[in-house]
Amino acid sequence: MSDVIIIGGGPAGSTMGSYLSMAGISNTIIEGAFHPRPHVGESLVTSTTRIFKEIGFLETMEREGFVKKYGASWHAPAAKNTFSILFSEFPQEGVDQDYTYHVDRAKFDMLMLKHAEGLGSKVIQGVHAREVLMENGKACGVKVNIDGKEVDLPCKFVVDATGRKTLIGHQLKLMKKDPIFNQYAVHAWYEGLDRGTAEDKEHIHIYFLPVERGWVWQIPIDDRITSVGVVTEREVFRESRMDIDKYFETHVQTNGNLAHAMRNARRVNEYKSEGDYSYSMTDFVGNGWLLIGDAARFVDPIFSSGVSVALSSAKFASEQLRAAFKEDDFSQAFLKPYETKLRTGTEVWYEFIRLYYKLLPLFTYFISSKRHRLQVLQLLQGEVYNREEVPVLQAMRSFIEQVEKSEHHSFKGALTDIPIDDLEEVLSESS
Ligand SMILES: Cc1cc2nc3c(=O)[nH]c(=O)nc-3n(C[C@H](O)[C@H](O)[C@H](O)COP(=O)(O)OP(=O)(O)OC[C@H]3O[C@@H](n4cnc5c(N)ncnc54)[C@H](O)[C@@H]3O)c2cc1C
Repeated sequence: MSDVIIIGGGPAGSTMGSYLSMAGISNTIIEGAFHPRPHVGESLVTSTTRIFKEIGFLETMEREGFVKKYGASWHAPAAKNTFSILFSEFPQEGVDQDYTYHVDRAKFDMLMLKHAEGLGSKVIQGVHAREVLMENGKACGVKVNIDGKEVDLPCKFVVDATGRKTLIGHQLKLMKKDPIFNQYAVHAWYEGLDRGTAEDKEHIHIYFLPVERGWVWQIPIDDRITSVGVVTEREVFRESRMDIDKYFETHVQTNGNLAHAMRNARRVNEYKSEGDYSYSMTDFVGNGWLLIGDAARFVDPIFSSGVSVALSSAKFASEQLRAAFKEDDFSQAFLKPYETKLRTGTEVWYEFIRLYYKLLPLFTYFISSKRHRLQVLQLLQGEVYNREEVPVLQAMRSFIEQVEKSEHHSFKGALTDIPIDDLEEVLSESS
């Protein structure tokens, strides 16, 4: 058997497998489903390009003809106001293309898994991991179910990349639900959607809805198909007492630009819904195990951060794991720097997201401002792992304080009750 067992063959697991194989560390990826399998999370940010390059996957992304994403556009509910950004405005170190991609996740995830296999990872599909085996408080293998029989697979180290199923998180009771966000998403694919002008038809489009934390994504999947997802607070869905169809259609009509884009659109697959998706684990590392991607932390998807976090966490974790193999030290203490790095990045995303929901006009004001625009762009591209490099968050906080203090500020009425103080500590404390 391999030294490392990676549970989950999504983007995080396949990236981890790729890095470990490149480092000569034997690894097996155990995936419960058979790829291709559908998945939500179809729009990437540009920081992923650096990792595609490092693991030699960028050529595949280019060859397979995924839709190129050059920027993003936001639409207010009533007004004609649209705000756009282009990635070309902020070139990133180590990224020499001014676009990222929108992906059909069934195809993308399958290609990533095949890529890991090509680099040397052993891949087992259709096998479900039941439990991580522990001996004296240290992970030492994985119990799987093969053809109805339970089999114990021994290994030196276990990586949990099970996404929102969070195998170790549940087994060791590490999960802390997000104290603020309890969002609910309904999404489907459409044909015949009017995607916009020649300049922005391949952007991700975000339409604001006139309900609490409500928005809609429009993501081009290929020439024909566009993914559309309605996101609101779960309470908004509950209180509406509508079925999914009615709920979706009703919200589409509340944003003029969206209703216009959807006027001739025809749904081509079933609605899917996602809920309860914001949480953190109290620990990302333990003796003989670590968590990557959604298995560690999930922040609200408004800025398309998930796949980028999945890939970056796999990269950082693989670096720490290489050092662990060198030192023959797989203890929680040795692995901790990885946890610290990932927490820094996800906390930056989380803070940005909360400031955004705290005062919606603040975001559009900042991206329209010469002074702040590039720093916001830097965040939107996924450059989040060094807190000192994102002073714009402090500028946003100061702006909110001013609005709160002032009696007649024009944004005053748009303030929400989202807390913006530091919550990462709350989310990482075991109860
Ligand atoms: C509503 C919504 C919208 C989103 N939009 C975006 C977006 O636009 N852009 C973006 O970047 N991200 C988005 N995301 C987030 C994105 O979906 C995830 O962050 C990303 O898929 C995480 O990758 P992962 O590899 O960690 O997990 P996953 O992609 O979920 O992969 C986990 C894999 O583990 C397997 N598995 C689970 N349990 C077991 C087990 N016990 N044994 C074996 N295998 C197992 C699963 O079958 C799966 O293949 C969105 C999420 C939501 C909920």
